[in-house]
Order: sequence, then C-alpha cells, then structure tokens
Amino acid sequence: MCLFCKMVKREVPAKVLFEDEDLLAFHDINPGAPTHVLVIPKRHISSLAVVEPGDVEVLGKLVASARRVAEATGIAAGGFRTVFNSGADACQTVHHIHMHVLGGRQMTWPPG
Ligand code: 5GP
Ligand code: ZN
Repeated sequence: MCLFCKMVKREVPAKVLFEDEDLLAFHDINPGAPTHVLVIPKRHISSLAVVEPGDVEVLGKLVASARRVAEATGIAAGGFRTVFNSGADACQTVHHIHMHVLGGRQMTWPPG
C-alpha cells in the first residue's frame, strides 16, 4: 500500500501543516531546505505522467496551496521553489503525486 495514502489514513505519522477535504500538507522527513513541505492530493494519483482530465480540479487546488504553505511557514516574501518529480529520471521515490515546497534559503539553478 502507498506510503502517502497511509499518511492520509493516519496509519503512518506525519507532521501535518494543514489539510482540507482534498489535500494534505506535511513536513518532509528529510528536509532539503529550512522549509520543506509536501502537499499531496488525498486521492491516489501516481504521477503527473498519468494525470487525467478528472484530476485537473484537485491539481489546481494543489498548486494554489503553495501560497498557503508559503504564508504559513514564513517564506512567502523571501521566495520559494515548487517541484514535482515524475518518474525515474527525475528521481521520484514515492509514487503518489506530491508538490515539494522548499524555501528559507537561497536556491541555485539548474537543479541537480
Ligand atoms: P520524491 O523523491 O518522490 O519527489 O520525494 C519524496 C519525498 O518524500 C522525499 O523528499 C522524502 O524525504 C519524503 N519522504 C519519504 N518518506 C517519508 C515519510 O515517511 N515521511 C515524510 N514526512 N516524508 C517522507
Ligand atoms: Zn497513494
């Protein structure tokens, strides 16, 4: 069973920042920046590579929630990065769509 689906069901603990009927936002267990939050749809979708038309509304909410993450963690003014890793070349390790929201330090570009 999917790790992030287990978090939605609270079968695996998560340091939750917020949730609503569609989304769960929680702190990454291995942060890559002073703020590193993951936002997931509560409904399982494995990656952006398999998104279907019926997923568009929840994914719109997911992307829009970056503002809430940034304001709740105090990184809105300084700036932040949002990342979706999809598939092997992008090093996706958990196959349930998640938006990384990273901030609190100067980022570099291009990413590794
Ligand atoms: P990906 O590499 O798939 O884009 O990102 C997966 C993310 O999930 C990683 O940043 C990793 O640290 C995080 N992660 C993996 N297992 C857990 C866990 O059990 N709890 C939390 N909070 N984050 C996790
Ligand atoms: Zn899942």
